[in-house]
Amino acid sequence: MHKHLFKIFAAVVITATIAACGTVAITGRKQMLFYSDSEITSLADQSYSEFMSTAKVSTNKTQLAMVQQVGKRMTSALESYLKSVDQTNYLEGLNWEYTLVQNDEANAFCMPSGKIVFYEGIMKYTNTADFVAVVMGHEIAHAVARHGNERMSQEAMVGTIGSVLQQMISNNASAGTQALFNVAFGLGGEYGIILPYSRKHEYEADKIGLIIMAMAGYNVDQAPVFWEKMSSVSSSSTPEFLSTHPSDENRIAKIKEVIPEAKTYIKK
Ligand SMILES: [Zn+2]
Repeated sequence: MHKHLFKIFAAVVITATIAACGTVAITGRKQMLFYSDSEITSLADQSYSEFMSTAKVSTNKTQLAMVQQVGKRMTSALESYLKSVDQTNYLEGLNWEYTLVQNDEANAFCMPSGKIVFYEGIMKYTNTADFVAVVMGHEIAHAVARHGNERMSQEAMVGTIGSVLQQMISNNASAGTQALFNVAFGLGGEYGIILPYSRKHEYEADKIGLIIMAMAGYNVDQAPVFWEKMSSVSSSSTPEFLSTHPSDENRIAKIKEVIPEAKTYIKK
């Protein structure tokens, strides 16, 4: 490796190590976070604005209201819990917003800045408030657990380290961060927002999501019912949400395992 490159590489590693001391809300798992919340939030909001500039908000007032009511109730419950344990730092960079857009794909996502989008296509599976809460909780969990930041940090360290260094050399670190954000979120294409989270992140988001459901007073026993229903959807029409959230037996088993712990968060 070129001497100059090595110095920059060392700087990246040192910076990453210093910035690495993060822990995930609720689970307490240690994670490496290379980016600041404000950096991630501004990138996320930029992508969200771009997405919303081409998207059409649903005209189905009943469904839109359900998405917004469930979202508000869940984020409020999460916020009160984090306040009660003096961990409001986990809310930094998160400005919740809940939208339902006109799109027949069965999909939903949450930007790392807290902007949650449901597609009309998923509403035929999430036809009850509890089912909306299953998907909503999972998406809120990805955001509050900073999975996007962690994924970008991992990419910076191992995946695309070469290109990141190139960007730093050309004195354009912000372009490098932008590129990483796009890699981490699979941005591209007309509605190409995909969150290719790892299995570890998926299971953690399921667990935190269930806990948020319990905090907000939704029925956590409906979570395995929802995923079983999703997994029975014929493979010829696999919903988009399932391609990033495979509802296989392992996942459903893990969800069932976590239910008793989630129930300890139900407000007495
Ligand atoms: Zn997920």
